[in-house]
Amino acid sequence: MKRIYLSPPHLSGLEARFLQEALESGWVAPLGPQVEAFEREFAEVVGAKHALALSSGTAAIHLALILAGVGPGDEVAVSTLTFAASAFPILYLGARPIFIDSEAVSWNMDSDLLGEFLEARAKRGRLPKAVVLVHLYGQSANLDPILALCQEYGVALVEDAAEALGATYRGRSPGTFGLTGVFSFNGNKIITTSGGGMLVSDDPALIARARKLAAQAREPVPWYEHREVGYNYRLSNLLAAVGRAQLRVLRDRVEARRRVFRRYVEGLGDLPGISFQPEAPWGKHSRWLSVILVDPEAFGHSPEQIRQALEQEGIESRPVWKPLHLQPVFQGAEVVGGRVAENLFAQGLCLPSGSALEPEDQDRVVEALRRLAR
Ligand SMILES: *Cc1c(COP(=O)(O)O)cnc(C)c1O
Repeated sequence: MKRIYLSPPHLSGLEARFLQEALESGWVAPLGPQVEAFEREFAEVVGAKHALALSSGTAAIHLALILAGVGPGDEVAVSTLTFAASAFPILYLGARPIFIDSEAVSWNMDSDLLGEFLEARAKRGRLPKAVVLVHLYGQSANLDPILALCQEYGVALVEDAAEALGATYRGRSPGTFGLTGVFSFNGNKIITTSGGGMLVSDDPALIARARKLAAQAREPVPWYEHREVGYNYRLSNLLAAVGRAQLRVLRDRVEARRRVFRRYVEGLGDLPGISFQPEAPWGKHSRWLSVILVDPEAFGHSPEQIRQALEQEGIESRPVWKPLHLQPVFQGAEVVGGRVAENLFAQGLCLPSGSALEPEDQDRVVEALRRLAR
């Protein structure tokens, strides 16, 4: 029986040609014309002025926080319902994460809770240095109120759009509203370079500074001169070639994932105790992952029992992100709210969502769930 994966890489068929071009040009070493072209093309696709190709999304978040001025002892507000990579770079810098709960309508950061938190901190005269706002599973957070708060309190907004390439908020790509935005090309994301990331901003000075930091902070003199700590975070020219090939089919990939989601709604929508991550009214969900919520009483099985049953049939599924305020590595960190994210973790299950998922294979997933419901 063919195994069905959660979100496997989906090649466009153009990768070999772009790679060949990169190899023939002799630019195998880091950087080179494919990187520059990938940055230019990516910036155009998402509607950002500048883009910097990096070795991972995590590296991009790390640099974004440095650009926001985050340092030891600073506080950074971050969504609690997310992958740990959204918050690990806060710890790299010796800063402290403050976890903010989700809202029910989008599962992303609750702007009311962020507002209460910022107001309380402003009274104490100690505002966080940045807000890391995550756009989860392909759905944009509600940017307008969060942007207004960041502006009011003078706090930098870093958008973690690693899961939301191809989504929109009022017609524009999430990741292009804040001071900086971050994308990922990890193997299971909507497009992949096998591993890689992108930092975008409309401010050329910020991207120039990040470009320097990502290349070991080398000063522009003939010898190796360093005045600050640097990182080896650039994307290789070969992987940028793969990224360019993937970018060409982004639109198709979004439509394919949205089709997968619609087929789940058609196939499972009538089952008792099953509901879906809603599509918030402010934009287009890319449906990077199709996520269901399971009411165990009504459905008769818990999400974990479903996960194990699917696994028996060679189908990979995954619980919703465990909220970061519950993660041992972040023990002791402050959390604002937390119940909404905890419930989503308790009830959520991510179903196979790949853009190459064949209808017959998706039928297997639907049938397995329908059998469990009986
Ligand atoms: C994948 C992901 C990242 C990290 O990206 P990498 O390229 O794997 O380092 C960060 N944040 C979120 C929300 C992600 O899903």
